[in-house]
Parts: sequence; structure tokens; C-alpha cells
Amino acid sequence: MAQKGVNTKKDRLLITLSGIIPDIDGLGILGGVFYDNKIIGLELWSTYHHVLSHNLPFCILISSLFAAISQAQLRVFALTTLCFHIHLFCDLVGSRGPDNYQWPIPYLWPFYNQPQLVWQGQWQLNTWPNMLITVFFLGFILYMIWKKGESPIGLLFDGVDKKMTIALRGRFGTP
Ligand SMILES: [Zn+2]
Repeated sequence: MAQKGVNTKKDRLLITLSGIIPDIDGLGILGGVFYDNKIIGLELWSTYHHVLSHNLPFCILISSLFAAISQAQLRVFALTTLCFHIHLFCDLVGSRGPDNYQWPIPYLWPFYNQPQLVWQGQWQLNTWPNMLITVFFLGFILYMIWKKGESPIGLLFDGVDKKMTIALRGRFGTP
């Protein structure tokens, strides 16, 4: 039996989602929209962001769920766990608030409140390191589209990669 890779669009989409899914605990900010009360949204956000879904138990839950509905279950479990933790790492190093609040991550919540992960060298969210990283990865995505004709954008917006590939190869030539 041939070894299965992470070759299906669904599996790649699940892995991609695992890198952004921790931030669903920040959706409380929308509470202000539903209740027409900005204070409720801010309270939900400040109370639960970096708590409900920025922890190891949630990671195991999501990785298990995604693996269960995937083709390459073991690889999807491993890669969703990795992407989830890359998200936590990025939060730790570069998401300090404008008021210098560090948004500690209770890694073992809801079972334990400790440890609360923080890094003293954490930079603010809207500073140049994050801008540089964003520009780098946008450039990398454009390069992938030009070189391989596909990128994570194509997982969410079918056909966009093809159109961008045609445009980029028309401008910069065929690789
Ligand atoms: Zn986060």
C-alpha cells in the first residue's frame, strides 16, 4: 500500500486552519455587534482571548478532530499540532498590546492555570518585525504561485491561484 502524504486539498485546508483556529477565542469582540453594546464585546475579548483556545487541551482536541476527518490521519495530527504551536509561538514573541499587556497564555487551561506563558522580549503587535514577517511571507506566497502555480490562497479561493499564476508568469516569465 502506498504511503499517503498530505496531498488532498481537504487535508491541507485542515492544517492551514489549525494555524489560525486558536484565535476563535477572540471572536467575543463581536459580542458588541450582536448586543449593540461595545462594552460586552470588549469584556468578552479581554476575558477569554488567549484563554479558551490557546492551550494544549484545545490543541489536542482540534488535532484529533481534524485527524479523524482527514485522509492522512497521523500526518495531519502531527502537522495540525505543529501549526497550532507555531501560532502560540508567534503570539508569545510578537503580540504585546499597545498598553504593553502581554496576553499570557495559560497553556494547560482549563485543567491548570499555570504555567502562564509569557516572554519578556515580546514586541508589540503593530511594530516593524511583524510588518517585515508579513511582507516576507506575502512575497513567498507570490513566489510559490509563480513557481508552482499554487499557494494556501487556493485552498480558500478556488481558481485565484490559477489567475494569479497567469498574471505573474505573464509579467515575470515562465519558471
Ligand atoms: Zn492567537
